[in-house]
Amino acid sequence: MRRRKRKNRNLIKIIISLIILVMVAGYFIVSKSAENTRRAEARRADEEAAEEAAQQQAEEEEMEQARLEKIEDEKGQWYLILVNNQNAMPDDFDIETVEVEDGYYIDARVHDALQEMLSDCREAGYYPRLISTFRTRETQQYLYDHTANKADTAIPGHSEHECGLAADIIDADSLGWADPLIDEQEDMPAQQWLMEHCQDYGFILRYPKDKEDITEIIYEPWHYRYVGKEHASIIKDNGICLEEYLENMEDYYQAQ
Ligand SMILES: [Zn+2]
Repeated sequence: MRRRKRKNRNLIKIIISLIILVMVAGYFIVSKSAENTRRAEARRADEEAAEEAAQQQAEEEEMEQARLEKIEDEKGQWYLILVNNQNAMPDDFDIETVEVEDGYYIDARVHDALQEMLSDCREAGYYPRLISTFRTRETQQYLYDHTANKADTAIPGHSEHECGLAADIIDADSLGWADPLIDEQEDMPAQQWLMEHCQDYGFILRYPKDKEDITEIIYEPWHYRYVGKEHASIIKDNGICLEEYLENMEDYYQAQ
């Protein structure tokens, strides 16, 4: 009787041990499989993130490519033509001029912008006056031949006035000056308004102060050149001249 009891106790011990063993083994198996699942999920997440990053990079490269192509395209547009002492206006440059006012003519594509700028300036209470816009080659030659300082006047064939894209505008109150085309023109009220707002109409002050080394033309706080609103704003915001802009356009131009 006592023997059987002991036998039973041993059996129970064995069974309990077996149960514990099975539970421990089960625990390890379950936790191992959970670990594997976690790892697989983490790997999948990594792969998805890498795929997303690669796709994003591809999209960025595509956008950059499109931006560079747009820059090349813009550089070929008539309104960004570079005409200076080193760059003559092309022989085939197409010009059709129309009168703005008082017998002053400008490229037909620039007409509305110039007229709007002048009219808004007047509405603001100022007196802008055109004194030179489109010039024929003969006029440019005459001016060049008769100028004392050759840095005052562009070489014939190299003037934005011949392209019909530039307008010299002064404050009417300076008409009585011996020569209104001097630095003091920048202090005149109409001129200050124009210098502050010209980019909103697509114009830039083409020959800024401190850029004479690059433009090879003296500071001219009266010569406005049409480049289109988008480019005029960028040029103004960065305090650069047209030469600098065209040379490093990819640093400045963000495609819209
Ligand atoms: Zn001019």
